[in-house]
Amino acid sequence: MRLIFLGPPGAGKGTQAKRLETLHGIAQISTGDMLRAEVQAGSEIGRQAKAIMDSGGLVSDEILVAMLGARVGQPDCARGFILDGFPRTTVQAAALDAMLVQLGLGIDAVLSLEVNEAELTERIAGRFTCRQCGTGYHDSFKRPLVEGICDVCGSHEFVHRADDNRDTVAARLDAYRRLTAPILPHYERQGLVHRIDGMAEIDAVSAAIDDALISVDKAQPFTSN
Ligand code: ADP
Ligand code: AMP
Repeated sequence: MRLIFLGPPGAGKGTQAKRLETLHGIAQISTGDMLRAEVQAGSEIGRQAKAIMDSGGLVSDEILVAMLGARVGQPDCARGFILDGFPRTTVQAAALDAMLVQLGLGIDAVLSLEVNEAELTERIAGRFTCRQCGTGYHDSFKRPLVEGICDVCGSHEFVHRADDNRDTVAARLDAYRRLTAPILPHYERQGLVHRIDGMAEIDAVSAAIDDALISVDKAQPFTSN
């Protein structure tokens, strides 16, 4: 299956995409994670992206389209992929369409996570992740089962993202409203959009996503390409 998660920052895209990746063995492609890896590595792309990410803006379409194009061709995407954070502009959506046409592939579903803005700010302010495996947590909504130890890999090290502060949240939400939300009608016209109540608890959101995916492919959503 090839899926797109759409939704504002903090809506729960990464949480849900990672769960599907773990359950079904299809690759989660988080462009935010890819950019943070470039920043960490000190690459040219990372140098260009860092200031933009820290200010809550969007990195150029040119960089993102090239990055995504290289990623979807990798072997772990052969069974499908889950896009988390891409496309984020109408230019990126058009580039993805063209890429998929060239590959003879299509998108099976677009999962739109709907969460109100007050909740997003709280989610972003309390978010932290395991430094080793990237599992996401929250100060109030999802603490590790054993305090200070990652549930998945046992690491003791956690990180807060540099851009997860109240100053950049407003800019990130503004970018979402102006540049990303307009993508939805593009996918709605193709009948691909499933609106999911992202305000529910994490497990309830997961269940709603599973229901939506069963409705997409009533047979076995994750057994074929
Ligand atoms: P996104 O990838 O859309 O930016 P995340 O998946 O990183 O969002 O979630 C943002 C934060 O909110 C994380 O700390 C995560 O643990 C928490 N979170 C995710 N889904 C929910 C939910 N349904 N209810 C409460 N907190 C959630
Ligand atoms: P995320 O991890 O998805 O919240 O992304 C973190 C930051 O990376 C965003 O605020 C943007 O600056 C940048 N970014 C991630 N994905 C994209 C994209 N598809 N287009 C432009 N910028 C992106």
